[in-house]
Amino acid sequence: MSFPPLVEPADELTIDEVRRYSRHLIIPDVGMSGQKRLKNAKVLVIGAGGLGSPALLYLAAAGVGTLGIAEFDTVDESNLQRQVIHGVSDIDKPKGLSAKESIAEINPYVNVILHEERLDNDNVFEVFRGYDLIVDGTDNFATRYMVNDAAYFLKIPYVWGSIYRFDGQASVFAPSMADDAPCYRCLYPEPPPPGMVPSCAEGGVLGVLCASIGSIQVNEAIKLLAGIGEPIIGKLMIYDALEMEYRKLKVRKDPNCALCGENPSVTGLIDYDYFCGAISEEAADAAADSTISVSTLEHMLKEREEGTRDFVLVDVREPVEYEINKVPGSVLIPKAEFLNGSALEKLPGVDEGKQVVMYCKTGVRSAETLAVVKGAGYADAVHVGGGVVAWVNQIDPSQPAY
Ligand SMILES: [Zn+2]
Repeated sequence: MSFPPLVEPADELTIDEVRRYSRHLIIPDVGMSGQKRLKNAKVLVIGAGGLGSPALLYLAAAGVGTLGIAEFDTVDESNLQRQVIHGVSDIDKPKGLSAKESIAEINPYVNVILHEERLDNDNVFEVFRGYDLIVDGTDNFATRYMVNDAAYFLKIPYVWGSIYRFDGQASVFAPSMADDAPCYRCLYPEPPPPGMVPSCAEGGVLGVLCASIGSIQVNEAIKLLAGIGEPIIGKLMIYDALEMEYRKLKVRKDPNCALCGENPSVTGLIDYDYFCGAISEEAADAAADSTISVSTLEHMLKEREEGTRDFVLVDVREPVEYEINKVPGSVLIPKAEFLNGSALEKLPGVDEGKQVVMYCKTGVRSAETLAVVKGAGYADAVHVGGGVVAWVNQIDPSQPAY
């Protein structure tokens, strides 16, 4: 299925531009009209890393008139194995600036706009607004879901790609372009459990895989901008570099999708870190040797009742959650109070030697508060793996779950 071009053509190409783009101009499907559309196009590339590097280089070379770059990181030596838009002299330089300089060298007719702040719920709409198309080169699930939702609310089509070791995937999500066009949530309604899918930093990635997937993304971007060919809307490209195999699967729009379905539950931006269970490095470190199971907690509570053990059990969820279910004998101090420091006044003093035990819904938030409490000197503090969800499942099924 073909789609109308996303962009109107620019008035004209200069003589220099005609010379520069001549190999495009003589392709009948592109021609003057297609090249003028690229000149008028505004494309935002999220990340100037593994996928963003080849994507930016080829979008710039192709003559996309305005390129936005959303990137807050700086160039590290370990990036150079695949992030080919950066060089040795760019190490420690902001990636956005380094990418901008490389683009100027390849095509001085491209207007580059840098967005050097970390994308979050507060700025994502402002950054996205005004772009015709987004190319997503992010490497984490929290940002991916945020990009999907924000692009959906603003009705901006986007080209998604992901890479890991020798495997890559790509698709175009554009619910605004067709009634049956799916979004990212239709394909992946839920993020993988935290820790299940290692990042490229943990698991590695073949450098040239970035070029394979990044070039698919640019290919699709050009098709969408100029209205040529058949974009992979409703299709998932899967690439296996070891077998050298491309597969194309159909992705259907999910009528029950939380975002683009018939009765959406996601009607605005949500807490993506929480949704994806992303925990900080500090939280992971704190929890590493200080996580107890719900059966250990049950045993500890019995001992506390018998007077052979003393500790304080803290629920760090929100009051509405505490009303639904709880571990008996707990006190409620929401996570926010740990982050602003006020929770520490409500805990027994460090010198009292009383152990602090914390839990939340699944163990993500309590890992974070554990890091705070340990940092404040409570060396023997622990948190409960699996949280109240595990408590209800394994210890007390008479309580409601949520
Ligand atoms: Zn959807």
